[in-house]
Amino acid sequence: MPYRAVKGMSDILPEQAWRWQRLESVFRQVAGLYGFQEIRSPIVEPTDLFVRSIGEQTDVVEKEMYTFVRHDESLALRPEGTAGVARAYVEHALHTKEPISRLYYLGPMFRAERPQRGRYRQFHQAGCEVYGDPGPVVDAEVIALVMDFFGRLGLPPVTLRINSLGGSETRERYRAALLSYFTPVASKLSEHAQARLGANPLRILDSKDPRDQEVAAGAPSVLDLLTESDRAHYQGLLGALDALGLSYSVDPRLVRGLDYYNRTLFEINLPSSELGAQNAVAGGGRYDSMVHELGGPNVPAIGFALGIERVLLSLPDVPQPPSAFCYICPLGAEPIRMALGWARELRARNVRAEIDGRGASLKSQLRRANALGARWAVVLGDAELETGQATVKDLSAHTQRNVPFDALLGELCTASRTLAESETLS
Ligand code: AMP
Repeated sequence: MPYRAVKGMSDILPEQAWRWQRLESVFRQVAGLYGFQEIRSPIVEPTDLFVRSIGEQTDVVEKEMYTFVRHDESLALRPEGTAGVARAYVEHALHTKEPISRLYYLGPMFRAERPQRGRYRQFHQAGCEVYGDPGPVVDAEVIALVMDFFGRLGLPPVTLRINSLGGSETRERYRAALLSYFTPVASKLSEHAQARLGANPLRILDSKDPRDQEVAAGAPSVLDLLTESDRAHYQGLLGALDALGLSYSVDPRLVRGLDYYNRTLFEINLPSSELGAQNAVAGGGRYDSMVHELGGPNVPAIGFALGIERVLLSLPDVPQPPSAFCYICPLGAEPIRMALGWARELRARNVRAEIDGRGASLKSQLRRANALGARWAVVLGDAELETGQATVKDLSAHTQRNVPFDALLGELCTASRTLAESETLS
């Protein structure tokens, strides 16, 4: 039985990898334009870090974490990026180095979910976190960053939903309001929701079970219970979103699956896509108490994560654009020796070059040059050695020229640069 990749975890083959690279480079570019710097934290963290930050009564912690014990320590593959970045922020006391940190990350996350299209056990997120700015202006800017990224990438139109969960006082009020709403109708809820009711009624709003959804539809709105300062923050957010010209809808039932959020919360969906139920492409919010809870100072924070697979599934599947390069076809031992030097020199001058070192016939070498999509084939055989001129075939224009050896590399560099410039312009 041949080995197969673990269920829900995928290989990314070269024909797809270039799309990943493009997405990643656009993400880095947009994050950079907003003043974010990259942080790379380990994939494995202490299990307890996730339990503390994400919350014990969340699906992620209750049933989706990959945990294992090594040297008496319980470790987990990270199910999301925020907790590890917050841990690093506290561990390295980044607040002592700068009052506000704008950090971004990219990488694999792991959740033992039931795999389906758009939902995997190893998936990848790109995310941003801001520490030290209480908002609400920065909250809107973080949202604008995601929207700009999607726009630059060419994602079809997305919808933005906003909510505010308020701070601890609002949450207490809301918890009480939800408890008094759900308790008399508890028998209509799923068993799981009934079990969670006392400890974490907010999670019921997030349940996928139709029984819970039906009851939750009439639940009180958190927006009616915001304290004065929470309301001011929320109004400030809406004002900043308006100033940025971003359209959004307010969804007072939006709670999202992780426990650490307060105040601003948002989710971005691709409404008309093949993703079906998995159409959430990004989500985030404020988590002002996490840094303190992890042993750091009282530093407010906001962030988001987007699902790279879901974004890629939503982009048109265009073929990889060809890159112009030289294919050197040496015929014989001495030509191969010369070609090795030429190819290396071309690469040193940033021209992609490949040599056919198989000792095959010219016909076979040219066939390969065409199959690879080379722009130029440089033929070097006995005749060329004799005249000191290489035969340069333009495989796209179907023309050929003889170029003296000492002018060859210069000409190929110029031709390749001219082509690259015309591609950038078009
Ligand atoms: P979350 O960390 O749950 O807030 O998710 C943020 C984003 O990550 C979601 O909007 C999805 O795009 C993506 N995502 C979350 N879980 C998965 C998964 N199991 N497979 C693929 N993408 C996911």
